[in-house]
Amino acid sequence: MSHTSDATGRDLSRPVEPSTLYADHLQAATESALTTARHPGSAFAGAGEDLLARLEAHIDGVREELVELMLDLAEHPETAFEEYRSSKAIVDVLARHGIEAQLGAHGVETAIRAELAPRSGAGADGPTLAVLSEYDALPGIGHGCGHNVIAVMGLGAFLGLAKLAEEDSSAVPGRIVYLGTPAEEGHSGKEVMARHRAFDGLDAAVMAHGYGYDLADQLWLGRRTLTVDFHGRTAHASAQPFMGRNALDAASLMYQGIGLLRQQIPPTDRIHAILTSGGDRASIIPDLARLEMYVRSPAPATLRDLSSRIEDIARGAALMTGCGVTVSWDNHPPSLPVRTNEALTGRWVQAQRRRGRDPLPRGVVSETIAASTDFGNVSYRLPGLHPLIKVSDAEVALHTREFAQAAVSDRAKSAAADGAYGLAATLLDVLHDPELADAVSAEFEAAGGAIDVERYFS
Ligand SMILES: [Zn+2]
Ligand SMILES: [Zn+2]
Repeated sequence: MSHTSDATGRDLSRPVEPSTLYADHLQAATESALTTARHPGSAFAGAGEDLLARLEAHIDGVREELVELMLDLAEHPETAFEEYRSSKAIVDVLARHGIEAQLGAHGVETAIRAELAPRSGAGADGPTLAVLSEYDALPGIGHGCGHNVIAVMGLGAFLGLAKLAEEDSSAVPGRIVYLGTPAEEGHSGKEVMARHRAFDGLDAAVMAHGYGYDLADQLWLGRRTLTVDFHGRTAHASAQPFMGRNALDAASLMYQGIGLLRQQIPPTDRIHAILTSGGDRASIIPDLARLEMYVRSPAPATLRDLSSRIEDIARGAALMTGCGVTVSWDNHPPSLPVRTNEALTGRWVQAQRRRGRDPLPRGVVSETIAASTDFGNVSYRLPGLHPLIKVSDAEVALHTREFAQAAVSDRAKSAAADGAYGLAATLLDVLHDPELADAVSAEFEAAGGAIDVERYFS
């Protein structure tokens, strides 16, 4: 193998080290915004001091168990739809507390459902609220997204409310549903569960995610996947190239077309494509080329618009080359962006302040840094809460080995209890404060109400 170098002597057989200048710039902007930004919190009364203090004591009472489970899940990471051990471990903890849970629920073998029903008439007409746990890991890097922490925050919230109801039957005037939701990473497990009625009849659903900051709210982009196949005609690339129709040329034109489109799309939109098939031998004009793509955008309507522009490019590339094209969308169910519910977010912020945290408002951490979550689909079916809780240093990114380490650190242990309390307190607030409950649903309706997620893009 021959090695070349450029005029400066750089070894051209290796990639350049990417500059951190822009990341540094974003970091500096965040640090400057941190000094003044403060979330407004909540004007609602919520559940009141006595109930919240009792709830907090119950959650702190199970803290050690939560931490133990959090570490155990991290030690035995399981990827999407394979979370057999993890889901069983959660169900075992519930059983230890006398709560019977359904393992295998809503079309997913590793999903969990448990319910806390209102006691003897008290709260029979109250809201039905859900708290969610994720527990899937990433291939190769274990809990690099910290879903082991998410698991115990959700579980701890449910246990705390169960203990409170056990102590005082009027303290939890409504129905609490616990949902273990597998396969968030790459598979939209919550959408699979939603299509099996997991979220039917619920008035709100809450969960929290670990991060490098305490954030009340953050942008999560909607995401769709697509596969584009170009169909050409093979021919001898030297003897009869004029008899061929080159599928790789079509894929190449589409790839260029996407590159040019990028200047004319909103700065928040993302398009990423890889070429997974483009011929077998240089002497044969390829008759099949395949692009696998993700497209992302911050609103359902803009994601739909981006989708149609991508399809136009695919058709144009096919026309230019005389190839056929088939576009297949959503081989994995799409994820919608996360729709904020400020009434819920404000109560989370109040609860976190009680625990010595002060979640930042949206926008302090640049929205350039944005990914997607299947909780988005939940948040367009019913009011949802999806804040971020600090478990790592600010500069540690999700989906890294460093984040997996942070997810078993002392910070993660504190987040387990603080997050569990925050989620449970928010639900308790909704149960006890009818004005808050009305505001939560009014805000959801004002934002457009429930959308038909399953058919939105068809
Ligand atoms: Zn992730
Ligand atoms: Zn995650």
